[in-house]
Amino acid sequence: MSDSDTQNATDALRTPIVAVLGHVDHGKTSLLDKIRGSAVSEGEAGAITQHIGATAVPLETVSTMAGSLVDPDDFDLPGLLFIDTPGHHSFTTLRSRGGALADIAILVVDVNDGFQPQTEEAIDILKRTGTPFVVAANKIDTTPGWNPQDGAPIQQTYEAQSQRARSMLDERLYEIIGQLSDSGFSADLYWRVQNFQKNVGVVPLSALTSEGIPDLLAVLMGLSQRYMKDEMAIDVSGPGAGTVLEVKDEKGFGATLDVVLYDGVIRAGDQIVVGGTNEPIVTEVRALLQPRPNAEIRTEKRFDKVEQVGAAAGVKIAAPDLDDAMAGAPVRVVRDRPLDDVVEEVRKELAQISVETEEDGVVVKADTLGSLEAMANALKEAEIPILRAEVGDIAPRDVAVASTAGEDVHQVILGFNVEVLPDARRELEESDVKLFSNDVIYQLVQDYDEYVEEIQRAQQ
Ligand code: GDP
Repeated sequence: MSDSDTQNATDALRTPIVAVLGHVDHGKTSLLDKIRGSAVSEGEAGAITQHIGATAVPLETVSTMAGSLVDPDDFDLPGLLFIDTPGHHSFTTLRSRGGALADIAILVVDVNDGFQPQTEEAIDILKRTGTPFVVAANKIDTTPGWNPQDGAPIQQTYEAQSQRARSMLDERLYEIIGQLSDSGFSADLYWRVQNFQKNVGVVPLSALTSEGIPDLLAVLMGLSQRYMKDEMAIDVSGPGAGTVLEVKDEKGFGATLDVVLYDGVIRAGDQIVVGGTNEPIVTEVRALLQPRPNAEIRTEKRFDKVEQVGAAAGVKIAAPDLDDAMAGAPVRVVRDRPLDDVVEEVRKELAQISVETEEDGVVVKADTLGSLEAMANALKEAEIPILRAEVGDIAPRDVAVASTAGEDVHQVILGFNVEVLPDARRELEESDVKLFSNDVIYQLVQDYDEYVEEIQRAQQ
């Protein structure tokens, strides 16, 4: 942001956007649920705000939860916005203006399990996007002889353990710290870290008992306040900018966008530009929707209409012509600018996520633009050529395209985190096209390599 921007009279600090990632079963969902749940049980009404795709925890709630660890007077950031859906590491590959959509990440690692393939993948992505992160060393309650200390900061709890429990936990924690170091990050237990920009803080915690969660919140808050304040300064009345989390059909609204807004404001009636599979889509916001508190899933009225939403926030946008919109694509409000400029901006941003395709190769489908890019990078490294790469579920057209590949080993579809549409499944059965589907990139590459070897052996 330029100086003139930061001196704008309507400048304010927005909420940092936090993503949770890590290997399956390491406790991402439990951790998010716990943060939301404890916020609600400890605070009054308004302790958190449920957005579309995200949960906002205001500073006051963070400070209630974190007790002596967070003095609200030390902070001027408004709180933390957690992206709700963990697990799909694609979330960390969601971009904003070339960087990562998330400002900070929590990397959850099960202390019993250490680094696993999805932990490694997450680390690679964090490295590539330069996203600061904190490690949640989860499930410390499973340490044999664990002795919880009610409500104490985790350092105190850690120091109060029997020698036996302490040394068992230490062994696990230092293995994680060692693995972080092997990945190029100097890390330590968070209370020993002086500079969170240089070193990764490891917070031992339990998503089951909540021990250590106040500490995690305090570290996230402190890290953003100290090192990210400049990036959080936005023009609150400027044209909104966001990233599509998901494109969803909603009864009564047709295709809608679940968006995380990271800049400016979006209003009902605004003209917007959205990244589409072919061309940027130009349309007008018909309604901005937020989840209705306590709404039953089955009731028709699951959403409340709001007139405007300011960053950072999650919101559902209902508008015509959104069928071709892509998860991971940029959304821009046009307001007070020439439409052509905004279209060009969206086109440029999409072009940054370029995937090189060849005359012959495999077909790649992925759930978001970011994950498509991550797939393309992994395939390039493995020297696997790509014939076509697209965001979206596997459709009959993909089977048709894959069957046109020249070499047998290229008549393949690699699907990352996507579904196979019923028609495509039928076509797959009737064709020679082979499908590999997974939500772990390295596994897809490995499965494909093994398949190629198998074919080559059979041909000898
Ligand atoms: P995710 O796949 O990373 O979202 O993992 P989940 O949150 O679904 O957790 C996987 C399993 O680990 C579940 O059975 C949880 O109950 C359990 N679990 C998560 N966190 C903890 C923890 O801190 N302690 C213990 N003992 N179990 C946990």
